[in-house]
Amino acid sequence: MSRVYNFSAGPAVLPEEVLAEAAAEMMDYRGTGMSVMEMSHRSKAYQAIIDEAEADLRDLMNIPNNYKVLFLQGGASQQFAMIPMNLMKNGVADYIITGQWAKKAWQEAQMYGKANAVASSADKTFSYIPDCSDLPISEDADYVYICENNTIYGTKFWQLPNTKGKLLISDVSSCFLSEPVDVSKYGMIYGGVQKNIGPAGVVIAIIREDLVSEDVRPGTPTMLRYKTHVDNGSMYNTPPAYGIYICGKVFKWLKKRGGLEAMKAYNEKKAAILYDFLDSSKLFKGTVEKKDRSLMNVPFVTGDKDLDAKFVKEAEAAGLVNLKGHRSVGGMRASIYNAMPIEGVEKLVAFMKKFEEENL
Ligand SMILES: *Cc1c(COP(=O)(O)O)cnc(C)c1O
Repeated sequence: MSRVYNFSAGPAVLPEEVLAEAAAEMMDYRGTGMSVMEMSHRSKAYQAIIDEAEADLRDLMNIPNNYKVLFLQGGASQQFAMIPMNLMKNGVADYIITGQWAKKAWQEAQMYGKANAVASSADKTFSYIPDCSDLPISEDADYVYICENNTIYGTKFWQLPNTKGKLLISDVSSCFLSEPVDVSKYGMIYGGVQKNIGPAGVVIAIIREDLVSEDVRPGTPTMLRYKTHVDNGSMYNTPPAYGIYICGKVFKWLKKRGGLEAMKAYNEKKAAILYDFLDSSKLFKGTVEKKDRSLMNVPFVTGDKDLDAKFVKEAEAAGLVNLKGHRSVGGMRASIYNAMPIEGVEKLVAFMKKFEEENL
């Protein structure tokens, strides 16, 4: 067996302990004589899996009792529609545009109501987070929407926007469980799990219970109503059962590692190794304003397209894979999620140093 250091933005690296455990349980899950993949979602064994997953997530994130936890499908992208269909009661919402994912959510919302862009960092290719301390929030806005960690550009909201009393809805796909959060500050937090938690196919939504109601946009399909999933414990239909099982294992792995405080400290330590090198390098440079840097996604460039391509190719040959930047921005990007061990970042920086010496 030969494992690489996988810097993919998503689907992304998972903890080896989790993969090994899943492998050991593949043929016979705890005496059931079958894989979790083959199991009825209505079985006792599966109910225990999803219940435990939810309980562990609640524990990890300290989720207040008046919030519901949903395991959904359709990717984070489906939420771009579900959010306005369910939550745009006045038909107005304010969006902060800090990258492609926020932009897509904003564009989708325009199909259902008046979606205002109240701030944007498009002027500098999304390399910073705009000042959100005093935005022109709409009087009748149903919510303010952010993408908290911008996977493609490598920026992060280190301070939540001042929503002037309006609900805050946040896409945390690429920073989910990377640090502690105060759930009570949000109306809803959601994210696709394939960045920092588990296999593609599961979206977790944490939503304040008073926002879940029958009062949705007329014509909203049953499957796209939060209430449908709340009323049925995320099992109105067959859930992404195997994916949820793996997420549950990752939650246990995170608890064993000391929870989200410990993960934050570890993630800060990992990111500092890479950022410190970028700040001292004569060849490589980070592309993001320092104060807004993400701990999860680290984009960087040499300034020369051919050299960037050479770097990506040679890194791959050295077992450091998926370092190519997003197709829309070029350069490089190292995604260093929870499951990326510190040794992976150390190896990457050592490789970058060597590459610098050889190519400067
Ligand atoms: C990847 C990503 C998405 C899109 O996720 P899908 O599950 O592919 O729909 C949305 N938002 C953010 C922040 C992402 O990183």
